[in-house]
Amino acid sequence: MILLDGKKTSADIKQEIAKSVEEIKKQGRRAPHLAAVLVGIDGASMTYVGAKVKACQLVGFESTLIKLPEDTSEKALLQQIEALNNNPDIDGFIVQLPLPKHIDEQKVIMSIDPNKDVDGFHPVNVGRLTLGLPTFISATPFGIMELLERYEIPTSGKHVVVIGRSHIVGRPMSILLSQKRKAGNATVTIAHSRTKDLKSLTQQADIVIAALGIPEFLTADMVKDNAVIIDVGITRVPDDSKKKGYRITGDVDFKAVSNKASHITPVPGGVGPMTIAMLLKNNLLAYNGIG
Ligand code: NAD
Repeated sequence: MILLDGKKTSADIKQEIAKSVEEIKKQGRRAPHLAAVLVGIDGASMTYVGAKVKACQLVGFESTLIKLPEDTSEKALLQQIEALNNNPDIDGFIVQLPLPKHIDEQKVIMSIDPNKDVDGFHPVNVGRLTLGLPTFISATPFGIMELLERYEIPTSGKHVVVIGRSHIVGRPMSILLSQKRKAGNATVTIAHSRTKDLKSLTQQADIVIAALGIPEFLTADMVKDNAVIIDVGITRVPDDSKKKGYRITGDVDFKAVSNKASHITPVPGGVGPMTIAMLLKNNLLAYNGIG
C-alpha cells in the first residue's frame, strides 16, 4: 500500500511556488497578493483562513486578511468585494464560507470578479471548468487531480466512483476525471444520498473518492482489492483524549481499507493540506493571468 502523502506533496508545491515568487521578485516585480475576507468568528473558518495567510507568508506572497463582524450587512460585504475587484494590487481573493445566515452566499460569489476568483466558485469559472477551458479549478478537486498526477495513478479507462455531489468537491471532481486530460479519461459514476446499493458500485471501482462528510463511511467490504482510495472527509469527532476535545476523522475506515488499497490518502495529511497549496497555485495563476 502506498500512502498518498498530501503533506509532503503540498510542501513540494509550495516550494515550487516560492521559487516562482523569487524569480518574480528578482525581475523587480511586486509579489503576488492574495486577500481573504472573513465574516464572523466561526472557529473552523478562522483556523482555515489563518492557515491560508500563513501559507502566503511561506511562499513570499503578500496577503491581506479582512475581518468583518458577524453582523456585517450583505450590502457592506458586497462593497468590500467591489473594492477588492477594483484594487489592482490584489491578484486574487477568497470570501471564506460559510457566511452568516443573513447573507446570500450565491449573491456574494456572483459579485467576485471571475479573474480574481481563486476559489473557482463563480459560475463563469465553473462553466470554464466544465468546458475544459483554462480556469481556476476549486482547490480541493484541483489538489486531488494534482495528487493523482504526481503519484502517476492511471485513470484512463478506469472506473471512478465519486461519493458526494457538492458544488465544491464531488461535482467538479466527477467532471475533471471524465475529461480528456492528465488524470482524466475515466469512466465516472457520481453517487449521492439517493443512490441505491452504493456498495455494489464502490466494489467495482478502481478509484473511490469519498466526499460525503460521514466519518468512516467507506468500509473494507465496500472496496475491491488494489483500489485507489481518496478520502476528502473532514469531520470533528468528539475525543476527550485529545487536547482540543476532538479528532479529525475522514470518510474512510482507514485502518481496514488501507489493507486492501493500492494507494490511499490519510486523514489528516492527505487531501486537506493539498487544498491550501492549490489555492496558492490559483493565486499565482491569477497573477500571471489565466488567459
Ligand atoms: P456536502 O455536505 O455539501 O455534500 C455531501 C454529499 O454527500 C452530498 O452530495 C450528499 O448527497 C452526499 N451523501 C450524503 N450522505 C450520503 C450517503 N449516505 N451515501 C452517498 N452519498 C451521500 O459536503 P462537501 O462540502 O462536499 O464536503 C464533504 C466532506 O469533505 C466533508 O467532510 C467536508 O468537511 C470535507 N471537505 C474537505 C475538504 C478538504 O480540503 N479536505 C474540502 C471541502 C470539504
